[in-house]
Formats: sequence, C-alpha cells, structure tokens
Amino acid sequence: MRRRHVRIGLLALTAMAGSVLMASAPAGADPTHSTASAGSKRSHLEDREAVSLVRIKLTGADMLDKVVAAGFDLEHGVKRVPTGIEAEAVLTAEQRAELQSMGVKILGSDEAFAWNEQADGGIRTAGKQAVQPLSHEQTVRVVRADWFTTKGQGFLYVEARTTEGQQADPVVQMQLENDSGTGTSFGFARTMSRFVDSGQYMFHRNLFKLDERPSQIRVTSSTGGVTTGKVSDWLENAPPPLTDDPGYKSNFIDGYKTPQQLYGRAEEIARQYPDIAQIIYLPNQTNGYQRKAQATIGGTGQSAVVVSSAAWGHEGGNDITVEFVDRPGADLPLSVEVTGKAIRVLLAKDASGALASTAAEVAAALETRSAGLIDRAHPYRTNAGTGIVAPSAPVALTDFLDQKRAGAPEGEVPRGPATIPVLRIGKHRDGTKPGVLIQAQDHAREWVPATTSLEAAERLVHNYKTDRETKRIVEDTDVFFILSNNPDGANYSFYNFASQRKNLTNHCPDESADPGRRDSWGVDLNRNYRVASGQDGYSGGSSVCTSGTYQGPEKLSEPEAKNIVWLVEKYRNIKFMMSVHSNGGQLFWQPGAYIADGRITTPRPPLGDEAFYWQSAGRILSQVKAYRETVVTPENVGGSSDVLYSSAGNVREDLYYTYGIYAFGWEVGGSVYNPATGNWQGGSFQPPWEGDPNLVSGHSETMEYANGIMEMFRVAADWGRDKKDPKSTLVPGGGKHRGPVDVHFETNEPATIYYTTDGSRPTLKSPRYEATDFREPGQVFHVTETTRFNWFSVDAAGNIERNYDPAKNDKRNNYRTATIKIDKK
Ligand SMILES: [Zn+2]
Repeated sequence: MRRRHVRIGLLALTAMAGSVLMASAPAGADPTHSTASAGSKRSHLEDREAVSLVRIKLTGADMLDKVVAAGFDLEHGVKRVPTGIEAEAVLTAEQRAELQSMGVKILGSDEAFAWNEQADGGIRTAGKQAVQPLSHEQTVRVVRADWFTTKGQGFLYVEARTTEGQQADPVVQMQLENDSGTGTSFGFARTMSRFVDSGQYMFHRNLFKLDERPSQIRVTSSTGGVTTGKVSDWLENAPPPLTDDPGYKSNFIDGYKTPQQLYGRAEEIARQYPDIAQIIYLPNQTNGYQRKAQATIGGTGQSAVVVSSAAWGHEGGNDITVEFVDRPGADLPLSVEVTGKAIRVLLAKDASGALASTAAEVAAALETRSAGLIDRAHPYRTNAGTGIVAPSAPVALTDFLDQKRAGAPEGEVPRGPATIPVLRIGKHRDGTKPGVLIQAQDHAREWVPATTSLEAAERLVHNYKTDRETKRIVEDTDVFFILSNNPDGANYSFYNFASQRKNLTNHCPDESADPGRRDSWGVDLNRNYRVASGQDGYSGGSSVCTSGTYQGPEKLSEPEAKNIVWLVEKYRNIKFMMSVHSNGGQLFWQPGAYIADGRITTPRPPLGDEAFYWQSAGRILSQVKAYRETVVTPENVGGSSDVLYSSAGNVREDLYYTYGIYAFGWEVGGSVYNPATGNWQGGSFQPPWEGDPNLVSGHSETMEYANGIMEMFRVAADWGRDKKDPKSTLVPGGGKHRGPVDVHFETNEPATIYYTTDGSRPTLKSPRYEATDFREPGQVFHVTETTRFNWFSVDAAGNIERNYDPAKNDKRNNYRTATIKIDKK
C-alpha cells in the first residue's frame, strides 16, 4: 500500500475525514404494532399512533442530517450506497408523509441496493493513458484491499483514495482492476463508488464476488493517477473456536429473555459459583416500568383535555375516573367534585344555558381542585384549549401497561423502579486483573445482545473447571456483565410495544405528553453521555423528546447512564468495554461522533490504539466467523462515525476519552450471505429464535457472537499479561543516501511512536507518528536534508520501548535514534 508522503521541514498534514458503509438487503419488517383497544369509555385520542418499520432512501448525508435533526428514528439500518443512503425508520403514517414531503423515498421490500458484481469495462476517460501515469501518479492511494470467503463464495473489498476526491466538477472517477493470482495480469475493470459524508469526500470503494483470490489490485483515476496494492486476507485462516474443544460446554440459551429472566439467572449464577462470581447492584434505580394513568377527554383539538394522575397507574392512578358533567340550568360556575377516586367536573353554563368551560379552564381546575388526584392537566398538543369542552361519561384513567401485545411472554412484569445487577465473574476480583465491561441492551428492542451476553457468562462458569482456555480467562480477567441496561424499555418491548428503543422516562412537555405519544417517549441511553454530546453540537442526538435519538434534558440525566459512570469510576481496573447492540453486523470504536459542519470528528485514536483495535477486531470477528462462516465485512469495522453514523453523546466516546478504556461498539446480527440465493440477507431486531442455521435467527446469532465475546476476554487477558516492550524501526534505517529518501516507521506490535527531528529528546509531548489518513498505514517522510530521528514507542498495554522513561530526564537517554544522511553531490 502507498503511504502518505510528508516532506520533512514542511510537515503538511492534510486533513481528510472519512466514512464508508456497506449495503445489504432490507431487514425484515417488524410486525409488532397493535393499537390499544378504545373502550366505549375512552376517546379515540388515547389510541397510540400506529407505527411500522419501513426502509427508506435518502439522497445523501445532507438529507440524513435534516431527517435526523427533524427527530426521526433512523437507527441501525443505515447503509451508504453509491446513490445515497438507505435506512430503516420506525414511522407513523403522519411521519411517513412528512418524510416523503422532505424528498425521502419509501422503498419496497425488494428495492434495496445490491453491489454490481459484474465488470463494467472501466472508465472511458482513463483509457490507455492510465497505465502510463504522469504527474498524477501519486494522487491515488489504496486504503485497503481485503479478500474474504463465506459459505464457499469469495469476495474482494477495496477502499482507495484520491487526493482529488473532494473535487466536485468534474467528479474524479476511479477504476479498479484485479489480477487472478501472483503473476497474472490485471483485468476486470470496474468503476468504483465515490463516498461523501457530511459534505466531505471519504474515499472510493467496491465490494464484489470473485471466485479466485487476487494477489494485487490496480486503481486508476480519471485524472491519470494510478497505484497498485497487495490484497490482504480478512478473517481467513482463523484458529478454531473454543467450542470445537471436546467437552466444551455451550448452547445454554433456549429463547429470548426478559430482564427478569436475565437478572434472575445472573443472581443464580452468583449463588452457584460463589468462588468466581458475584453480583454488584448498581446504585441508581431506573425510573421504572410504570406510568401515570392518563386520558384525553372532552372532545378533539381545542376542546380536548389531557389528564395525568399524580400517582403511578399501579399505585392508584388506574382507579381514577374523570367525568365531565352537563348540569341543567344557566349561569353556573365551573367546579370539581371528588368522591374517593371519582372526579366529577361540573362544566360551566353561560346566561343562555349553553356549555361554557374551555379546555384550558377545565385543565386548570383539574390541576388545582382534584384533591391531589391529578397533577398534570393541559390542552391537547399545541392547542391553547380555547374550545368548549363537551360532556363525557366517566372515563377510567389508565397507564396502558396492562395492555399486553400479542405474543408477549407469560407472567407479570414487576412495576416500579428496577435495580440493575452486574454479574461479575473472575477468580481474582480484587482490581489486579484487567476488567471487561459487557453492556447489553441499551436499546430495548435489541433482544439478541442480551442472550449473546448471557451465553458468554454461562460458558465462563460452566467451563471454568474443565477447559484450560476458559480457566485462563477467569483467572486473568475480571468481567462485568450488564445483561440488560434498559430493563424498563425492554419490558415495554416484550410486553407492550416491540419496537421500543429508549427507556420509559417521559421528559416531554405538554404538547407531546398525551397518551397518543406514549410509544415515542423516553431517552436514548446511548446519547445521554458527556463526551461529544448533542448539547455540545455533535450530530446524531436529538433535543426533541419524541425523537428516537432523544439525548435527554441534560447530560447523564438518566440513572442507566449514571450507573455506567459509577461502575467504571469504582472499578478502575475496567480497561475494556463492549456496548452490545443489534442488528447491523458492525464492530467499531472511536471516532463515534462528529460536528456536522466540516465533519469534525472526535480525535482519532493514536496509531497504536487504532492498530490494537483492528488487531482485536480481527481476533473477535474470526471467532464469530468460526461458528457458521458469518463475516462482518471490513467496511463495517472501524470508527463508528465512519462506518455507521455520528452518535452524539454515546457511551463509548465517554469511556475512551474520559477513562482511557478501549470501548468497542458491536452491532450483532446483520447480514448473512445466503449461498442459495447469492444475496446477503438482512437482519432484524427480533429475528425468529430458531431458524435455518444458514440464515438470520436469534439462536445462531447468540452462539456466533458469544464466540466473539469470549475472544474479547482473551484479548483482555493477553493485554494484562503483556509486559514486553515493543520494538520499532525506521525503514530504511540511518545511513548515507544519494538524494532524497522516503522513510517510515514500523513496529512489531500495535504501538504509538513519538519522535523528534531536531535532535531533541523525545517525550510524550513530541509529535506522534500518524496514519497517512484514517484507515491507512503510517505516514511516509520525504527526507531531503540530513535529519536525525529520535523516537520511542508505546504499546497498547503501556509498555515503553527499551523501558525508556520519557518523563524523567535520566542520563541513559535510551530512546531510539537514526540519522538519515543525504549526500547531495
Ligand atoms: Zn442499539
């Protein structure tokens, strides 16, 4: 691969930000919605607005930003395709119309983008001159060229950049060719797809089927730039999974689990295996699976009154009735009578005997004169409540939580605030071993992350005594499982509204507080953190309380988010974190958010961290693949704002930038390649538990992604055992050169290099050796004058090369050094 050239003395670092996503078939629709039954005693206004999951097509990032800013719920199905962006949205009919009026296209079930796998003959304008490049030779770089196989089919994925990529008129085209193995010629020309995100050129890329593994690729730009690159393997030749070991126990989960089931099993594990497991109860209780009892009464529009009980529904609110009474007579004042839990609003009459109480007046009377039964009453939505209220027979208020959706699990859901248990597993739980936090189900409707995490916990405790590798994990790590971090929302998803994403806390002002909006309340727990938050101008969090990505009224407003901060501050040995979501088939890290204007991301991790993330991802995803050949493809791995979208205030940014925790995000599930059809089949939040082992199913996803979690534990154990210092070299090394020379650094393991070129002692404040550009290898120095490099490297575990101490000015000065002598004669 080409590296970026940087002229020493003129370190001109061009900033280029980036993003890429993969295309997949549409996810299955989520058939979960049922409307509440409106009894004769209730107005139609209590019916929740029917929603459905639809697949949509946006023209590009600008439209995506607008749609997200308008508060639409576009989560986990966002795919960048060459002609724009495809996404999934949970929409009411009204929202669907609003989106269409913004220019968004609603896709049919078979309209999703699929990569063109045919060679197309290439770019006409490039023609023959492409193979004889002139001044534009160095304008093109290969970012990555990855070969992978799944279920008997080979694929090649390529990313390439041109320095002219931002140019809009004309847009620079890129052509990709590949050989058919070592020594064969290039052919099969294809036009690459150009990707632009938030106004910034990212790179060009392609994914296509191939039967033979190529050895090299060649990329040519329409302006005459050309380069070649070596093809690397992606997740090929993975070591066998733990599950292959004879006697290894796995496959513990028999179906989706409610929070009660998850927590009950966690507590049972702690009782059964007290020598290696315990429960830590998180200090902040959730808001609870509970709601105020409500009704919308008195008419529609300006005449409607929205009433909410002071007590939670299950604590008496559901027993309240409200009646609007028309008395005979004229010149009667508005008054309120309360008998037990029965409230009678005696409507006013004017001089002619006509009803005369407005919705605003009735609401005010209910708030102040209902003997404390009603603590919130207001006009409907944005109405001022100027309409005259109509009489109504007694209406029973309800929290709607006793209305179970079809297919809900058996059993009662505990009401009231929940205490979230953390299942901690490790032989040495004293802070001396690297801690790994597995946090599942921030998003309520994501059921597979919870079963995946529980399966991993079961494997640890069941195999500890009998399997050598498991014993090493339990003895050398300290694992913290939060099997569901959103129990209230998860219960709502299981029992009431399957598409629930957020928690159940209602922060909405009056205009959105009527029960018709109840499925849209709540805070997106993965937007409620402090770093790169929506409040600080980052993209992907909403201030609209009904938005799918509502960030909350302030940073860390929610107990579920406060608990995570509490946990990592109390257990400072937590150095790894996996935030487990579904169903994108992605593994990512930082940067995870950007400011849209200029696409300014959170700081990219140093090269050593970036390399460590990639190395860990390769190990984790190889183990996922080992189960049934599911490949998480390379375009779905990297910084989450590059591979998915900007997520303001997500937990990973907070944990990495505040505490230095390696914080991964995982989208389990997602597309699987179906050899029978030759297509990728998309995932869903709640796929059938059992199913064709080759296709999407909750059971298969649980098993394969639990393999990946187990490998993450091994990554952490290896990290904890790593006491060896890294080794780095300057290539080529010191010595005499006739004329300018290109040099770069290499390391024997993921490590970050700090260097000087002015003869001074390198410290942690010295320039850091950077990537050529994001997703690319380290930069290249073009040395034109005699230059002395002084440097040292630091590995992912913090070991410093030659045990050099950059902080102390000790006499040894055993940093690395090399002098490039340029002989100009
Ligand atoms: Zn999620």
